Amino acid sequence: MKINRHYLDLKQSYLFKTIAAKTEDYKKAHPDADIIRMGIGDVTLPLCPAAVAEMKKAAEEMGHSESFHGYPESYGEDFLINAIQKHYKDHIGVDVNPSEIVVTCGAKEDVSNILDIFDSDNTVLIPDPVYPVYCDTNIMAGRKIKYISASAENDFLPLPSDNDCGDIIYICSPNNPTGAAYTREQLKIWVDFAIANNAVILYDAAYEIFITDKSCPRSIFEVDGARKCAIEFCSFSKTAGFTGVRCGYTVVPSELEADGVRLLDLWKRRQSTKFNGVSYVVQRAAAAVFSDEGYDQILENIKYYRRNTENMMNTFSKLGLEFYGGKNSPYVWLKCPGNMKSWDFFDLMLDKCNIIGTPGEGFGSNGEGYFRLSGFGNNERTQEALKRIETRLGI
Ligand code: PLP
Repeated sequence: MKINRHYLDLKQSYLFKTIAAKTEDYKKAHPDADIIRMGIGDVTLPLCPAAVAEMKKAAEEMGHSESFHGYPESYGEDFLINAIQKHYKDHIGVDVNPSEIVVTCGAKEDVSNILDIFDSDNTVLIPDPVYPVYCDTNIMAGRKIKYISASAENDFLPLPSDNDCGDIIYICSPNNPTGAAYTREQLKIWVDFAIANNAVILYDAAYEIFITDKSCPRSIFEVDGARKCAIEFCSFSKTAGFTGVRCGYTVVPSELEADGVRLLDLWKRRQSTKFNGVSYVVQRAAAAVFSDEGYDQILENIKYYRRNTENMMNTFSKLGLEFYGGKNSPYVWLKCPGNMKSWDFFDLMLDKCNIIGTPGEGFGSNGEGYFRLSGFGNNERTQEALKRIETRLGI
């Protein structure tokens, strides 16, 4: 027996472990410290009432033989697929055929599982800094990774260059961790590049609901040509607080082909072979999110989180701090003042303000010198944190 030795090429994921260890040490030394966590990427608001009501109803159905459901459909139940199609049409203005939608357990799983349908010889292009899952899943498969530099010079929105040849291109917009979102014109450059190079774009739209700028698409399929080169991943996690419930969806256009084979057919074959579908109860709750009532309720939650990012942006502007993101994203990407390194700034924030953020260096080497702050916290606690930054940090 031989193991997959590519696993040994993975770097230890020390980021959140180190944050937890440093926080514990600090709490031991300062038991009375009132610590505010602004590093979390998880949501904090509960599920919307429309989703909870449908979940309860569906759970009740499961308890009676006449309405019990066994294995769900591998690609999703029609009622949810139709709700997702309607969401694309009504809220985003994009036509998607129901047969192109595949319901899943979430975007983390999907951006990893989709790799099954691609040869391990493909080269992947991944921005740095980035959501670490893209890198680790490709390292596990032994693929060659080329990093594309996202930095202050390109507003953390890198565009392709002739040196950047790759077969699989990851784009995350709005981005985790930088909060930056591509405009339609910028995405068109990526789409043209992918078509010209016979590459596929894996487009992670997990944060699409946070987009406020009309110039930034919520779906890559708003861009001409994208149906020929892109697969989109989205999720109810950040949209509707489903991080612990688990439901997402992929859209694979029917005309997207490689070697004369439809990628949609390969993806569906992969799913029906390795995945037995999302639970009925969860799919009912997810469909309720895109009902008129549910959508109004989740927009209220997004407004709540947005208040946090707006307050952060106002305070940082007032203090003359450099930052990115926030406007179209729950994340604000702060340049550490005085050219401090990410972990030094982490220590300073913990010590002076009792605030925990996420050191940017943990998302890639280009994240060094930056700090990710999240809008997923409580409004009052975020205000309190900002007051401490203004009065205690000494900047
Ligand atoms: N994609 C990005 C960019 C993320 O930041 C996250 C979670 O933080 C995910 C995907 C995971 O989403 P899900 O909960 O649907 O797996």
